[in-house]
Amino acid sequence: MSYPTALPVNEPPDKPEEACAVFGVYSPGEDVAKLTYFGLYALQHRGQESAGIATFNPDGVRLHKDMGLVARVFDEESLLQLPGNYAVGHTRYSTTGSSLIANAQPVVVPSRIGSIALAHNGNLVNAPDLKRTLEKDDYELISTTDSEMIAVAIAQELESGKDWLDAAKSAFNRCQGAYSLVIGTPEGLMGVRDPHGIRPLVIGTFGSDSQHYVLASETAGLDIIGADYLRDVEPGEMVWITEKGLASFHWSTKPEPKLCVFEMIYFSRPDSMVNQESLYSYRLRLGQQLAQESYVEADSVIPVPDSGVPAAIGFSHQSGITFEEGLIKNRYVGRTFIQPTQSMREAGIRMKLNPLKDVISGKRIIMVDDSIVRGTTSRKIVQALRDAGATEVHMRISSPPVTHPCFYGIDTDSQDQLIAATKSVDEIAAQIGVDSLAYLSWEGMLKATRENPDHFCSACFTGDYPIEIPDQVKQSKLLLEQNVSS
Ligand code: SF4
Repeated sequence: MSYPTALPVNEPPDKPEEACAVFGVYSPGEDVAKLTYFGLYALQHRGQESAGIATFNPDGVRLHKDMGLVARVFDEESLLQLPGNYAVGHTRYSTTGSSLIANAQPVVVPSRIGSIALAHNGNLVNAPDLKRTLEKDDYELISTTDSEMIAVAIAQELESGKDWLDAAKSAFNRCQGAYSLVIGTPEGLMGVRDPHGIRPLVIGTFGSDSQHYVLASETAGLDIIGADYLRDVEPGEMVWITEKGLASFHWSTKPEPKLCVFEMIYFSRPDSMVNQESLYSYRLRLGQQLAQESYVEADSVIPVPDSGVPAAIGFSHQSGITFEEGLIKNRYVGRTFIQPTQSMREAGIRMKLNPLKDVISGKRIIMVDDSIVRGTTSRKIVQALRDAGATEVHMRISSPPVTHPCFYGIDTDSQDQLIAATKSVDEIAAQIGVDSLAYLSWEGMLKATRENPDHFCSACFTGDYPIEIPDQVKQSKLLLEQNVSS
């Protein structure tokens, strides 16, 4: 038996990486640590490098965090050590600072009136400036993350005698960039979105007592613990949950919604709800729009699993071409740092995706994926389909070409690593070895949202950044770390 060409197992994933998940629960009398654990478990796709939970009760704050997946960081024993009335949780993928335990979140920072535990999804674009103003006042930063700077800025504002709300508002006005935050204080739990609302944050109610609240990056984090979706935290809004209930403050005078459209295309789970519908439904429409824009004669439409599945189904519905599973994903493969043996290499490792030869052989295939970043994985999958007997391979992408890096909390490569930044569509098609390649149009992507197109950030497709990026921030994602060690 001959094996199809090797598919990548140890290369970095050829997709942008999500930054983080944040989660919070205010539910006195419940096991808030365990609820947070399950919330983070449902949001694990948003960050796999570290996880942490901080709980608050009248005695103070308790924290447990470590490197690794949620299920590895916590067990029954460690959760028992986290009693409390409310909790803050986080899973992290490093977008600033490298992958170190010191950079794991929540960050806990002391202040004049008690400890702050902060979980952050996003990226500040003015972090170097903010760092300088904090260090000028002798505040010592122990991590290399912008998230710690937000917590320290709140502590600094408290020093002048402000209360929690005023100190937080003053600190947020010093932050520029993307931030969805869940913050625990001795008085209650805060949920915050930056004035553009670039990263999502939703509110749920929990249990029979409607005074119990949940904050989560996505609605999938509510579903897993049986919480009901209440509403989104709005751009430029802060919700403050205490024993008196939930209060709302619009701290920004200039909210301008710019939700990351890549959350809708790829990052968020397909069962998470945005604008009253599941992202599965949106992604289905992307596939339908794609078929309208770039139909080609073929025998089968196959997805690149899992993220290409809804768009491939939509493409199939619209085109009338049969949807089939042609690539099977090994669902238990994470990132491994053990190299395959030489004999495995020679035999053809198929640890991540395995082509179904009897589905593919002799057929003209349309392969649908949600995006191409570097193109390295796409090339190998196309070769594997050809080895499995495909007579033609046409690639259709349910988003426009990614031409610019993200500075708002998504780890895309630098611009020179993005294949569409330096090559035309025809050149990319030649490089990945397909018979034809087509991307969804930018207009088609936004039309499929059925929302006001001005309410989305799509800067990685256009270079039109809604928040200005200072030159020094453009240089490297490790810029902060270099500053710290210098
Ligand atoms: S640049 Fe792209 S990935 Fe980053 S926030 Fe905007 S749409 Fe999302």
